[in-house]
Amino acid sequence: MQKNITSDVTVIGAGLTGLTAAFYLKKAGKSVTVVERSHRVGGVIRTFSHDGFTYEAGPNTGVLSSPELVQLFDDLGNSCALETANPNAKRRLIWKNGTWNALPSGLGSAIGTPLFSFGDKLRILGEPFRKPGNNPYETLDQLVLRRMGRSFLEYAIDPFISGIYAGDPSLLVPKFALPKLYNLEQNYGSFIRGAMKKGKEPKSALEKRATKDVFSVSGGLQSLVDALAAAIGSENIILNAENTQITPHEDRYQISATATNGDAICIESSKVVSTAGAYELPSLFPFLGADELAPITNLRYAKVAQVVAGFREWNGIPLNGFGGLIPSKERRKVLGILFPSSIFPNRAPEGGALLSIFAGGIKNEAVYNLSDEELKQVAMREISETLSTNSKPNMLEVFRYPHAIAQYERSSEERFAAIEKIETACPGLILAGSIRDGIGMADRVKQGVNIAKEIETSRL
Ligand SMILES: Cc1cc2nc3c(=O)[nH]c(=O)nc-3n(C[C@H](O)[C@H](O)[C@H](O)COP(=O)(O)OP(=O)(O)OC[C@H]3O[C@@H](n4cnc5c(N)ncnc54)[C@H](O)[C@@H]3O)c2cc1C
Repeated sequence: MQKNITSDVTVIGAGLTGLTAAFYLKKAGKSVTVVERSHRVGGVIRTFSHDGFTYEAGPNTGVLSSPELVQLFDDLGNSCALETANPNAKRRLIWKNGTWNALPSGLGSAIGTPLFSFGDKLRILGEPFRKPGNNPYETLDQLVLRRMGRSFLEYAIDPFISGIYAGDPSLLVPKFALPKLYNLEQNYGSFIRGAMKKGKEPKSALEKRATKDVFSVSGGLQSLVDALAAAIGSENIILNAENTQITPHEDRYQISATATNGDAICIESSKVVSTAGAYELPSLFPFLGADELAPITNLRYAKVAQVVAGFREWNGIPLNGFGGLIPSKERRKVLGILFPSSIFPNRAPEGGALLSIFAGGIKNEAVYNLSDEELKQVAMREISETLSTNSKPNMLEVFRYPHAIAQYERSSEERFAAIEKIETACPGLILAGSIRDGIGMADRVKQGVNIAKEIETSRL
């Protein structure tokens, strides 16, 4: 049997990017079909709830950093309740010499912290007066060494980059990986001066509501993607789609896939939005040459394993903070430990605790490659040694992501150029997802919104 569908836009992937784009396209009156290989929506976003624990298999928290994200929650209305982090959970901890230290949140605390050397504290005070760099391809470690000093790199930037990119500061290029930071130096001459000046710039009402608070959703992040999917309508989302392929056909595209029962699915659309990872593109677009795609498929991803541990009773140190990050210099096995039960309500039974331990990343892939049993042992050893508990967890699970986080390295410029070249040569085709425009959930929503706007204003 063959199922034929015609829709204005086909979106490949029902993760946060694809669902956001489809949600706004539908709102704008376009017919849209979302094609998803998995049996569920959400992509890497996935929440589980049982035995009093509500935990995330993928991302745990986002940052309310863009007006698009604020608007999305407004547009979803009552179908999804935004939760911002407990204000007491703002404290981020950094491991140094066998103990946790609070990451400085301002200039005053940076001067008092034991994390940075005396010389670097003086350097930080001098940062506003240091001249800006002029190498757009400078790596993050070079930029930080030039402006702030080695201890700042090792005990602030390295763990921060582990927390966001699971990456290596000597490979990431700020122009692509942290464009806001890069632009502070380029536009204002200094991070500190730039941050102060930017803070004083006038903001729209919506921008003011992009408070940079840490967020989740009541019931976990799955509720966000479920709310998007419900608004799009299950009749417009094809799950379990195997062997999806896109081929140009006259001035449109034909999207073919196979349903679980073997039936052929054939969709015709004038616009196709791919949100799949770089490694998926050769099979999705057989008409694109390997040479054309190479600058995109070369994209490196960090492999990340997340071990989730739930305790009905917690007898370790008080978990009053967001979580702790572990600098590579400390040579421990994991990247960091998040305290979700301190950040959001109802994540663990009263008196208990929920912890998420992240391991692997670009610098420590060997730990990612351990077996589940070994990873659980590593996680429990780290919990017991750094959080002083002898409790046995009541729940312990491992989740793995072989393509967790795209690394925006020097090659990003060629990747962005290759995407642009393909999109120009193939009108109506949009290559999106975390291959461009950033890796966080706020970036994904912003991209989805912008794609919908772009399609809305273009001719179908
Ligand atoms: C472990 C982990 C922790 C993270 N932590 C954070 C965090 O703390 N804060 C934050 O802001 N961000 C975090 N992120 C990043 C954030 O989760 C992602 O940026 C975002 O969820 C990605 O959404 P997406 O839709 O672009 O991609 P995905 O979620 O990967 O969705 C892509 C979808 O496309 C589908 N697909 C792929 N290929 C095909 C194909 N050939 N045919 C059909 N369907 C296909 C996939 O099945 C998937 O459902 C984390 C990510 C991971 C993995």
